[in-house]
Amino acid sequence: MKRLRQVLVSAAAVGTVLSGLAQAQAQAPAGNGLSARAQEVAKGTRPDQIAFRALYKEMVETDTSITTGSCTLLADEIEAHLREAGYGDAQITRYAVPDHPKEGGLVVVLPGSSKTLKPILLLGHLDVVVAKRSDWTRDPYTLIEEGGYFYGRGTSDMKAMDATWVDLMMRWKKAGYTPKRTVKLAMTCGEETSWAFNGANWLAQNRRDLIDAEFALNEGGGGRTDGHGHVIQQSLHVGEKFAVNFQMVATNPGGHSSIPVRDNAIYEVAEAALKIKDYEFPLMLTDTTKAYFGKLGAARSDAMGAAMRNIASAPIGSPESKAAEAVLNTDRSFHSMLRTTCVVTLVDGGHANNALPQHAGANINCRVFPGVSVESVQDKLKEIIADPKMTLTVEKLRGPVAKAPPLTPQILGPVEKQMAVYFPGVPLVPTMSTGATDGIFLEAVGIPSYGPPGGFGDPDGGGVHGLNERRSSASVYVGRDFLQDLVKDYASH
Ligand SMILES: [Zn+2]
Repeated sequence: MKRLRQVLVSAAAVGTVLSGLAQAQAQAPAGNGLSARAQEVAKGTRPDQIAFRALYKEMVETDTSITTGSCTLLADEIEAHLREAGYGDAQITRYAVPDHPKEGGLVVVLPGSSKTLKPILLLGHLDVVVAKRSDWTRDPYTLIEEGGYFYGRGTSDMKAMDATWVDLMMRWKKAGYTPKRTVKLAMTCGEETSWAFNGANWLAQNRRDLIDAEFALNEGGGGRTDGHGHVIQQSLHVGEKFAVNFQMVATNPGGHSSIPVRDNAIYEVAEAALKIKDYEFPLMLTDTTKAYFGKLGAARSDAMGAAMRNIASAPIGSPESKAAEAVLNTDRSFHSMLRTTCVVTLVDGGHANNALPQHAGANINCRVFPGVSVESVQDKLKEIIADPKMTLTVEKLRGPVAKAPPLTPQILGPVEKQMAVYFPGVPLVPTMSTGATDGIFLEAVGIPSYGPPGGFGDPDGGGVHGLNERRSSASVYVGRDFLQDLVKDYASH
């Protein structure tokens, strides 16, 4: 109950800060959502930006996927840069576990001058989702700049932010800059896979002291364009849905395929999958998502905008809320922000093409809404499947159930300041992400984790986790300056 109350307070804080933003709006609306300064930064021609581009290129071109790559190798490269910048054994900690030698990482610490202020933690996962050369238009592990975009696996998720963090730690050290607060950087592996070694969880459980901080900055936030390079919104990530997998399995006596019967393990799984396809979990809202839709809706004049405003204000279950939900459900991101979702992602079955299947199964990937228990989702799936012969089990949980971090003026104020510098007139909204980040592992040990805005992506998702991943060069350079100025602000207060 305590946590809920906190969120209510922050919603009010959001209100005051966002009205402050309204004033900023009037001041300097810009063409593509970028201020004149940001448009200059977007060119990427400054010497420090050219050096940064080389680091980004090195990181993207180091394959860190679980099948063909190595996070440990990239951590070696980063360590070399940090030592060159002046960090020594006392500030650099390497870690890996024997049975996962390629999934190691590092923590580097830049001590601050204050004896009382707690540190800030910057978090970045080095691993990327697997990419097959044969599926891509270009080589996924060569950084290619074309048409205002960087192409390559990890250009968006999340090596632009990784490079921004490493570059910041290097430049501050080289410049002899000592912030008030100690700044720590944890580079980890395993965020993209739920069955390998997760560095963020390992650090949280085994080296809590090393990463101790008042709060952490991580992926999850960022802006959205209209698909034509115009930034229409920026988001601050506060909290997330919780990812969990269930396995359903059907078994059957089988037999010779020349004498088939209707009772068939693969059909059983297929029928259950279609029931899951057709089930819609009920609409849910948090104060963060209410603020999200309320604010975004206020900035739009179309039917979607009206629906956003209504979903934020109308009581759940009312005709206005139902009508608004129907409109919002046409957008896949908004649809998944409003509820728990479950989808069948993997199937297997059968053992020979001339035999009736004796075993069939499927993986159901669910994204559980904050405050909803895993058990209640499992019970609901059983009810939907309605097949007593089908077994349904839950995988080993990836970690603790997500808790929404508090949204305070201390966090929001500096973000708003940078928004006015780089994106005047662009709405800033607190978001609850539907994906999962390693932030949950930090929150589980008492380190609130936020995804700051700064960079931005296209509405089609920019190939993240998919084919031909890309990030606009404007987003990379402006995102870097925004984030580094933001960290400087946090670290000096
Ligand atoms: Zn990621």
